[in-house]
Amino acid sequence: MAGLNETHDPARKSWVESANAPDTDFPIQNLPFGVFSVDGGARCIGVAIGDMIVDLTALEEAGKLTPGGSIKVFGDGVLNPFMALPQAVWSETREAISKLLDAEGGDQDLSLVAQADAELHLPIFVRSFTDFYASKEHATNVGSMFRDPNNALMPNWLHIPIGYNGRASTVVVSGTPIHRPNGQLKGPQDEVPGFGPCRKLDIELELGAVVGTPNPMGQPVTAAQAYDNIFGYVLMNDWSARDIQTWEYQPLGPFQSKAFATSISPWVVTREALEPFRKPAPERVKQLLPYLQEKTPNNFDIDLVVELAPDGGKPSVICRTNYKYMYYSSALQLVHHASSGCAMETGDLLGSGTISGPTQDSFGSMLELSWNGRDPLEVDGGSRTFLEDGDTVTITGSCQGNYRIGFGDCAGKILPAPEFGG
Ligand code: MN
Repeated sequence: MAGLNETHDPARKSWVESANAPDTDFPIQNLPFGVFSVDGGARCIGVAIGDMIVDLTALEEAGKLTPGGSIKVFGDGVLNPFMALPQAVWSETREAISKLLDAEGGDQDLSLVAQADAELHLPIFVRSFTDFYASKEHATNVGSMFRDPNNALMPNWLHIPIGYNGRASTVVVSGTPIHRPNGQLKGPQDEVPGFGPCRKLDIELELGAVVGTPNPMGQPVTAAQAYDNIFGYVLMNDWSARDIQTWEYQPLGPFQSKAFATSISPWVVTREALEPFRKPAPERVKQLLPYLQEKTPNNFDIDLVVELAPDGGKPSVICRTNYKYMYYSSALQLVHHASSGCAMETGDLLGSGTISGPTQDSFGSMLELSWNGRDPLEVDGGSRTFLEDGDTVTITGSCQGNYRIGFGDCAGKILPAPEFGG
């Protein structure tokens, strides 16, 4: 399935004029899938093109695009039925949509919806959510802060993609407001814990991989299969309560500190759209076991930017980094996840783990950017160590080559903690 084809042709233009602007996230070479509605109507499947949306649900109803043959796959308001189809059908559908939108020979009678008039929804039914810890820079920073700078990485880290099973129920689409969580807190001087609003509310800049092709229980997958089994990718902010985490995480790992919210961007950028931007993993410090050895470049060159805007204030860039730094690719995470015989399902979401680069302005969490509160960040009208109520955090991402592949926004605003706990 891998490889470049005419849908990647940089010379291809669209009759949708806004898709030909050099700074658009959604040129004809991107064609990300999402879910939208207009005026509170039914949820439809769409593909973003420039500042417009192609309504695939309408095309399927009209018999112009029938990826499922006689079975409708664009009528459920989520991408899962389409993602469950064979990988060859994903490619054929992308090719068909590209042809419909082509400036030469496309179908200019196609009706489009302006993105400005549409509400975007969670694009997938999230079957399960697993979160990883796969950036060596991030793991080294956290280990240096809380353990020992000379032995920052745990002994297992260079051999195994570390992860935990998260909460699918609180994965939300960009734009959904996020309540500051309440939880058990205990400072080092406190004799007993208290209960109240988190005081160290943080972001985690991540990329989410969406599994399309399942593997049955008991049947592991190879690295090559795992790469192909991923349907696409979204930007992710895995909101985290650092103080709740500190008290609760031993011995079974994070729980409520990570369970309250995870935001994802509304457009799923397909694995196929990212094909021209593949990058090899960083050099291995220790040789990985054979089942974790990749024969193809499974990382991507994706520039990532995080902005923080105080309530009523202007956004400030607080981080610039790139996904290519990740030590373990999403494909390797999927290999490891299935290696025990764990069934991975259509709609499973794998969080990359916080994406940090080598320099202080490329760290993907406020924990690292402020070095656990030691070095406050300058933002419009003040400074921050962690998030305050009213703050809006926006993640953007894009690949830049002969054309630009963008992900849209992944944004969320912090609301005060709900009253609870007496
Ligand atoms: Mn995370």
